[in-house]
Amino acid sequence: MKYYAGIIGSGVAGSTMALRLAALGYSVVLLSKARESDSSRVAAGLLNPFAPKHLLPGWRGMEFADEAHRFYRELQTASGVRFYDPMPIFRVFPNAHYRGDWQKRCLEHPEYLSPVMDAPDPAIKAPFGGGLLYHSGVADGKAFLQAAGTQFEGRVTYIQEDIRYDELRFEAGHWHYGDLSFEQVLFCEGMAARENPHLQHMELIPLKGDLLRLRLPDFAPQYIYQTQHFIAPDPEPGVFKVGSTYQLGFLSPAPQEGDLNFLLGALQSFYKGPYELLEHRAGLRPTSFDRRPYAGAVPGLQQAWVLNGLGSKGYLMTPLLSRVLCDAITKQGELWPELDPGRRRKRERNAG
Ligand SMILES: Cc1cc2nc3c(=O)[nH]c(=O)nc-3n(C[C@H](O)[C@H](O)[C@H](O)COP(=O)(O)OP(=O)(O)OC[C@H]3O[C@@H](n4cnc5c(N)ncnc54)[C@H](O)[C@@H]3O)c2cc1C
Repeated sequence: MKYYAGIIGSGVAGSTMALRLAALGYSVVLLSKARESDSSRVAAGLLNPFAPKHLLPGWRGMEFADEAHRFYRELQTASGVRFYDPMPIFRVFPNAHYRGDWQKRCLEHPEYLSPVMDAPDPAIKAPFGGGLLYHSGVADGKAFLQAAGTQFEGRVTYIQEDIRYDELRFEAGHWHYGDLSFEQVLFCEGMAARENPHLQHMELIPLKGDLLRLRLPDFAPQYIYQTQHFIAPDPEPGVFKVGSTYQLGFLSPAPQEGDLNFLLGALQSFYKGPYELLEHRAGLRPTSFDRRPYAGAVPGLQQAWVLNGLGSKGYLMTPLLSRVLCDAITKQGELWPELDPGRRRKRERNAG
C-alpha cells in the first residue's frame, strides 16, 4: 500500500501529526505500539503558558496556548469525546513576597493575571491568597488519544505493532516498510526514539513523572489549583488529577510507593478535604538538553522528519508545532531554526 506519510508513534505528537496531514487530504499510515506508561497516556495535560517564577508567558507561551485551545476545542466537538476544559489556574501564593510581586505584575498585565484574591473554595489552604492565570486549561491525555482515534476512521490507517527499524529503508525516493511505502517518514516515538538508529545524534533525557487520580467528594471547583503541584479536573465527574513529580535518572516508568506518598503529602499541603485514591501512574517525559523540542528534518536523511523532546509541555506545544512541521513537510511554510533536530550541546559542537 502506498501512502504520502508514514508516522511512527501514536502519542500526542504522532496522533496530532496524523490528524493534521489527513485534514489536508494526505494519505497517512500510523505505526505504533501504544503502552499504558506512554507519556501521552499518563499526562495531566495542563495547558499552562506561564513561567511561574516570572509571572509572564514562557517562550512563545501565548502562541502555543492560542493554537492548543483552538485545536482541542475543534477535536472535542468533532469527536464528541470530552477531554478538554479551558479554565483559569488559581495560583496559590507560597509567601508574602510572591503575593507582592503578583500585585505589581497584575496591574501591568491584567490580560494574564487577575487581582489578588482569597481561595474561592474552602477546601483549599491559601494563607497568602492567590490569583488567576488566564489562557490556561486542561486536555486529559488518555481521553485525548481516544478522541483522536475516533477521527482516524476512514482517514488514517492505524497499524498497532512495534516497528523494527532494520526493516525500514529508503529506496528510489520512497520509504518502505514491509508492503507499505510512503514518501515522507515522521518519527514521533517519545523516549523510545533512543532505539531509533536514525536518531542517535539527538539527545533525549528521560524525566520521570508520577500522577495520581483521586475522588474528591464535595469538591467542584471552577479552577485548576496550583502550588508547585496541582489539582486538575479529570473527564470523569468527581475525579481529579494530582501531580506531578519531576525526576531525572530513571529509565523505567514503573510507579514507586515513595512517589505516591510524596504526592499525597503535596496534596495535603494545600487541600484539606477528604480523598479516595483511585490510581497511581507514571511515565517518562522525553526532554532535550536545552529544554526546547525537536521539530524538523532529520539530518542526513531524505524525506524524514521528527517531532520529539516535548518535555513537560507536550500537550501545550504540540498543536502549534505540528502545524509548523506539517506546513514545512508540505512546502507551505518554514521551520523554526531553534528547534533543529540536528543541534547539539555547545561543547560537543566545539569538539567535533
Ligand atoms: C506525569 C506526567 C505529567 C505530564 N503533564 C503534562 C501537562 O500537564 N501538560 C503537558 O503539556 N504535558 C504534560 N506531560 C508531558 C507530555 O505527556 C509529553 O510531552 C508528551 O506526551 C510526549 O508525547 P510524545 O508523543 O512525544 O511521546 P509518547 O507519549 O511517549 O508517544 C510515543 C509513542 O510511540 C510509540 N513507539 C515508540 N517507539 C515505537 C516503535 N519502535 N514501534 C512502535 N511504536 C513505537 C510508543 O509506544 C508511544 O505510543 C506530562 C507527562 C507526564 C509523564
